[in-house]
Amino acid sequence: MTTLFIGLGKMGGPMARQYAAAFNTTLYDVGPAATQLADELGVRALETLDTVPEEIDTVILMVPNSRIVESIMLTGDRLLEKLPEGALVIDMSSSVPTSTQMLAARAAEHGIGYVDAPVSGGTAKAVTGQLAIIVGGEPTAVERAMPHLEPMAGSILVVGPSGSGHAAKALNNLLSATNIAAAAEILTISTKFGIDPAVMVNVLNASTGRSQATEVKFPKHILTGTWDSGFGMDLMIKDLGIARDLAAETGTESPLTATTFEIANTARETVGGELPDHTELARYYELRNDITFTPSQ
Ligand code: NAD
Repeated sequence: MTTLFIGLGKMGGPMARQYAAAFNTTLYDVGPAATQLADELGVRALETLDTVPEEIDTVILMVPNSRIVESIMLTGDRLLEKLPEGALVIDMSSSVPTSTQMLAARAAEHGIGYVDAPVSGGTAKAVTGQLAIIVGGEPTAVERAMPHLEPMAGSILVVGPSGSGHAAKALNNLLSATNIAAAAEILTISTKFGIDPAVMVNVLNASTGRSQATEVKFPKHILTGTWDSGFGMDLMIKDLGIARDLAAETGTESPLTATTFEIANTARETVGGELPDHTELARYYELRNDITFTPSQ
């Protein structure tokens, strides 16, 4: 049997490479990425999803958002109608938990298993097949999904029922974005006080203020002025919106969530450009305060 891997962008491309080494794989993307990668890997690419080859029994999705997942599964390409009973769908995109719950229920009506398995670790861990994979779903479907996740995983964390993987992922990204904003803010103050940003990052990383933002993002993508983490700011803002909605739906008083969401949206307007990197949240602080975190040569 064969897996249809849909969405071959910055994450899906390297993930599909790892996956195709372990399972029979057919590729699909609305852009040219599927045919290019299929040629390289010597596997089949579909040009449309009008008909689904009968050997497909598993689908993996790695697309930008829930609107697109819903379009592929339900409203546009209508894969739920085209897949055989007993098929398994694994949505590895960072999707909206309530949409995932709805799709899992619709999939169950067709006798199809549906698992949410979003990832953390960025393009670097996608390339090495060491992503943290955060899993939600009905236990039998989760058990069936496990071997499919292993080729891409450094760790697999089962969270709970359908949608809980997607909820946990959005909340992780809320904390990650909040850490970048908080670090950028204190780095701005220290820079204005006259402390070299690289020295201040070293201080934080030897002290209690450290986070993945200060240990990885500042040294690799921000102090270098390269803004090249590979995770787009628009995707981060999408995740922050999911987290903000989760806070509202759970009736949680969450001033920090609202503030991070607002800072990220203002940063998006300020930095401009077609596809800014999410680390440009720190560039917003540079632009607003007329400073730079990049050491002069
Ligand atoms: P990307 O924009 O680089 O890739 C998305 C791919 O999906 C593109 O190749 C696009 O052509 C394809 N696509 C869009 N609509 C489609 C459709 N209807 N049918 C088939 N293919 C379609 O995005 P990415 O950075 O790879 O992110 C993918 C998902 O992973 C997002 O949900 C994102 O939030 C999440 N994510 C990204 C990162 C990262 O570091 N980039 C890290 C963790 C999670």
